[in-house]
Amino acid sequence: MSQTVTRFAPSPSGYLHIGGARTALFSWLYARHMKGRFVLRIEDTDAVRSTRESVDAIFEALNWLGMAWDEGPFFQSERFHLYEAFLKKLIDSGQAYYCTCSSEKVELMRKRAMEAGGKPKYDGSCREKGLSKSKDSVIRFKSPLLGATVLEDVVKGRIVFQNQEMDDFIIQRSDGMPTYNFAVVVDDITMGINTVLRGDDHVMNTPKQILLYKALDSPLPTFGHVPMVLGHDRTRLSKRHGAMSVTAYRDMGYLPQAVLNYLVRLGWSYGDQEFFTVDELISKFDIKNLGRSAGVFNPEKLLALNAEHIKATPPEKLAPHLLPFLKQRGYPAEKGQYLNNVIATLKLRSKTLVEMAESASFYYVDKPDYDSKAVKTFLKADIIEVLEMLADKLEQAEDLSVEIQEKAFGEVLETTGIKFGKVAQPVRVAITGKTVSPGIFEMIETLGKDRTILRLRAAIDLIKSPQGE
Ligand code: GLU
Repeated sequence: MSQTVTRFAPSPSGYLHIGGARTALFSWLYARHMKGRFVLRIEDTDAVRSTRESVDAIFEALNWLGMAWDEGPFFQSERFHLYEAFLKKLIDSGQAYYCTCSSEKVELMRKRAMEAGGKPKYDGSCREKGLSKSKDSVIRFKSPLLGATVLEDVVKGRIVFQNQEMDDFIIQRSDGMPTYNFAVVVDDITMGINTVLRGDDHVMNTPKQILLYKALDSPLPTFGHVPMVLGHDRTRLSKRHGAMSVTAYRDMGYLPQAVLNYLVRLGWSYGDQEFFTVDELISKFDIKNLGRSAGVFNPEKLLALNAEHIKATPPEKLAPHLLPFLKQRGYPAEKGQYLNNVIATLKLRSKTLVEMAESASFYYVDKPDYDSKAVKTFLKADIIEVLEMLADKLEQAEDLSVEIQEKAFGEVLETTGIKFGKVAQPVRVAITGKTVSPGIFEMIETLGKDRTILRLRAAIDLIKSPQGE
């Protein structure tokens, strides 16, 4: 068996959306799994709808997801010479012909065919006329009139299309543009693509493409048409169901590996396993396990999976993903041990990187943002003595390792007779300004001695000040 070659062929008329990313993912994973190649092709023959911004947005999203392509990007708009050469082949071999029927005339034919109880079809008026190219001529493919075209689909199984139902479809428009079905086949043949995975919105195109492969004497690729992704109401996924663009999830603080993991499960399964690392997906992904029923996009599940991936990812690997969010907030964060420690204290409690960056605030500001209710409830005069004693003890300590802190806290509790539960919240509020934070000891160890002492003393001053209690 020759090397597996898959492709992703987006039309650049918008951002990369969830559904497109999932199709790309299946093709990318399969190429990786089979140690094959993954080709990126930009289908930009529609000059009106295709934009450079969309192309860049697609690259950006694929890069963020880590789906590197091995070949391309190829642009259909740069391949017209090839389409011309293949059109000529079909014309010369009598398998395609010029047609000069006006669109009104074709419309009428279609109407008549429908009235006669058939499919709306072109009636083949120019099929045997032997016309040459002229100003308004299109090129049509000479479809077989009888027999059937069979699609052996790895997802949908065998689908038989009666050739009678197909008409002589256009392969080149009068403006010289190849049609989608024709350009795709020429590209897939010349790029050596042998596995075509795409959305099942294309399944009705496939028999036409199969006919073109046959006319061009080329072996058929393996086809797999995956069901569309649906929203919670089981209609086709759209903006109504939430953010659709892949990079919107990046901006909301999702990890690319979590998005990949979620996307793959919308149409592929491996027993009932839900959590996969990217390496695991590469080793386990097979097109045999692509599902026939449509996946339903569930933002809560994606969020839960993101939290799991954050938990499972080591701090130094989370750091580059978190940094932009910290910088966005104006924190002087840099990669390094301090950031890794900060992340270690927060990663079990953050569902997104946005949440993590918000919770990290107290590690990066000089003065924590005090929550007034928390201050009022926990920073009261009766705690001054404890805070002072604690600040003194910690100040004398060599460093603020967890053991040293435990010892210092222990001594303070013993001397004052207060329970840890009574001290914990005031200390937490003193240090973070809030009532919710990472564990006291790990947080203090991360924050470091100077800042901890400064904050304990600032809290004492706050209590003593006229605005305090
Ligand atoms: N350009 C097509 C689309 O965006 C995909 C074509 C294909 O995969 O064959 O839907």
